[in-house]
Amino acid sequence: MTTLAEQAVGSFRNRLEGRLVTPDDADYDQVRSLWNGAIDHRPALVARCAGPEDVATALAFAREEHLEISVRGGGHSFSGASVCPDGLVVDLGDMNRVEVDPEARTVRCGAGANLGELDAATQAYGLAVPGGTVSHTGVAGLTLGGGMGWLTRRHGLTLDSLLAADVVLANGSFVRASEDENPDLFWGLRGGGGNFGVVTTFTFRAHPVGPEVHVGLFFWDMGVSADALRLIGHVVPGLPRATGVLMGVGMNAPPEPFVPQEHQGKQGHALIVAGFGTAEEHAEALAPLADGIPPLFELRSPMPFTGLQRMLDESAPVGILSYDKGLTYSELNEDVIALLDEYLPRKTSPMSFCPTLHVSGAYTDPDEDATAFGGLREPMYVMSCSAMSPDPDTLVADIAWARALWTELTPHAANVGGYVNFMAEFEEDRVRRSYGPEKYDRLARVKATYDPENVFHRNANILPAVAI
Ligand code: FAD
Repeated sequence: MTTLAEQAVGSFRNRLEGRLVTPDDADYDQVRSLWNGAIDHRPALVARCAGPEDVATALAFAREEHLEISVRGGGHSFSGASVCPDGLVVDLGDMNRVEVDPEARTVRCGAGANLGELDAATQAYGLAVPGGTVSHTGVAGLTLGGGMGWLTRRHGLTLDSLLAADVVLANGSFVRASEDENPDLFWGLRGGGGNFGVVTTFTFRAHPVGPEVHVGLFFWDMGVSADALRLIGHVVPGLPRATGVLMGVGMNAPPEPFVPQEHQGKQGHALIVAGFGTAEEHAEALAPLADGIPPLFELRSPMPFTGLQRMLDESAPVGILSYDKGLTYSELNEDVIALLDEYLPRKTSPMSFCPTLHVSGAYTDPDEDATAFGGLREPMYVMSCSAMSPDPDTLVADIAWARALWTELTPHAANVGGYVNFMAEFEEDRVRRSYGPEKYDRLARVKATYDPENVFHRNANILPAVAI
């Protein structure tokens, strides 16, 4: 552990409006813990920042003391990069205020808020910002990498609804990024992750949503796996724009009241379709499913939008041990189906599976280079090979399973790099492939302008372009 002079730490503490947590504090273990319980990093200091000035103070202290810096929004990444061993964590968790302007349909969201907090504030006015599928995920990391969930087909990625961001740069200066101010930074922030600075506030456009939505859930067991995947692959791409689609490929049916008791624990494929139109429109959208193999069980129900947003929270509990490797593919073809059929029964933990979003509609509206988002703006399946278990040995087995499945699927991938927010490890070649050469080079130039010393490197890292 880095040894820091008590006096320097004391003076740093006095300069912070927020709280400085050290290994001597009773809540140190709680403060440094992450969603991914497999990560056990012991930082030297955690600065629980109260505002942008605290962020600048923390960055200055880290530079003076030559400390590694990590930036923590919601602490919900697979990689655990937001808590650095021996370094200083710039923790934004207390900066979680969400202010909605219902007339302008805009939202100012503190970088420490999670999706549940953002939804609660916006739904009070019948509005929503497109987010993810698990409500305890942080808004910050999710937005900066992309942000896809139930509303992606209707309203695009989270970053497509970003209007502006307030940022503290590595040198401590405060800048605003929007279409009109520092547009190069604004472009880079929308997909380039935490590479350029610490975002303290996001301003989003909000959209009228709910408060009630319609949900259809269908589950087929592994006995009919190939036919079920063929049906899903046939129906899902044609679903209307006003639907959100998530598949639980290879999942075990959870012990939830909506699963008939005799089917709980069975492995199979779940398809969940959320409808944002009327009940009739939803029924019409789901009708083609009746032409294929019947599901083992199904459920159709209206529910509050906030309920939909929390529906999967229990399947990914805080502190679970986890690993993830993702990729995207354009179609659920026979080769992909055969590989899934072969590999899915080989997992060890009932919690491991392949959550898969289908993105299309509004997701494909922006031009490919309108933002730095690393992925093709084409209809596609965004899949995670996700290992999850409360037990370390089972996790090790399923990490090997996830990597093997990922490797086998890569020849069929639309983007082998996959979505940066689903990376548990940041292999440099995969980061480059996620963005593609042109976007990566443009990001490298933005990086050279705003963080030339690569202070913010605990992420899907963009190396600063070297001036020639
Ligand atoms: P953190 O761990 O706090 O941050 C991750 C990284 O983001 C940091 O290392 C840092 O580099 C950067 N960062 C964070 N805050 C800031 C900031 N304020 N300024 C600058 N950089 C910052 N993604 C989706 O798109 N859709 C989903 O449905 C979805 N579901 C998920 C479900 C689970 C169970 C998990 C674990 C993840 C899911 N994700 C999803 C991925 C999620 O978007 C990323 O893990 C994201 O990084 C989480 O953000 P965070 O702020 O909580 O994480």
